[in-house]
Amino acid sequence: MKSEQSDFFKHLFGGEKSLPKSEKKILVLSYSQISTYQQCSLKYKFQYMEKRPSKPSPHLDFGNTIHNTLKEFHQNFDLRKASPFRSNPAPKGTDASDEYWGTSNGVNLEDLLELYEKNWVAEGYESREQEEEFRREGERMLKNYYQTAIKNPNLPLYLEESFKFRIGDCEIWGKIDRIDRLPDGEWEIIDYKAGKRRIKQVGLEADLNLLEIDESFQLSLYYLGCKNKFEKVPEKVSLYYLKYNQKISAARRPEQLRDVERIVDQVASQIREKKFEPKKGPLCPWCSYKELCPAFKEALL
Ligand code: SF4
Repeated sequence: MKSEQSDFFKHLFGGEKSLPKSEKKILVLSYSQISTYQQCSLKYKFQYMEKRPSKPSPHLDFGNTIHNTLKEFHQNFDLRKASPFRSNPAPKGTDASDEYWGTSNGVNLEDLLELYEKNWVAEGYESREQEEEFRREGERMLKNYYQTAIKNPNLPLYLEESFKFRIGDCEIWGKIDRIDRLPDGEWEIIDYKAGKRRIKQVGLEADLNLLEIDESFQLSLYYLGCKNKFEKVPEKVSLYYLKYNQKISAARRPEQLRDVERIVDQVASQIREKKFEPKKGPLCPWCSYKELCPAFKEALL
């Protein structure tokens, strides 16, 4: 498999210099843009070509709060120095030694929750009650995350690390939530999921096939982004479902990486051909552009 993978990389990256000079203008795409196009190409046009503002969304603001909190937490604290007792009063008859309080760089659950408060974005919620419901859910998720994180010896190497690379006439860019160095020196890509999506299957590599295709596609893109930027092939890619405090990991297979090229080419050609058709779906009632959308208006008649 290794040689098949390296042939593929030679084709995708090493071969880039030998590609014939393209007449086409470079199209810049991210995972979100590609997945929005796949969800509804008219929505893509409104959002990314006409740059119409989207409506505030509690899920978006909540996701940003959680991502920013975890980024700052790992940037500022070394979890190997966790001090679980610091928030309790010192036991009677003892003085508060370094061992009790942790070191000056020690970290405590309160540090994480303080960052959560600092990063809270109050816009986008429909009511005070809804905001409080999200706030409590975030606190529960972070408490569970912390308990797991302090037992994890892996060190985050990069946080919110951006990348870009070429596929044909497209420049793909993105940001990886986290890249860890594993105890054996290999790398792991981690993408946090703060939403309420259910896990259909957990654990085994084969089960990842049962996850929604867009998530698998996202991880393949990030894998290639990491490989291209650092010339390091990650050993595994993971989705961390914070709601369930559950991380699902898998390796990438060459066919999944070839799919990236196929999907990018397909979406890019349709964008270049200006194919922007509405595609109605269960998310239409929450679409920021439904008032502009002929298909949505028609459905209401
Ligand atoms: S309302 Fe639905 S069909 Fe219309 S643009 Fe939005 S997602 Fe597309």
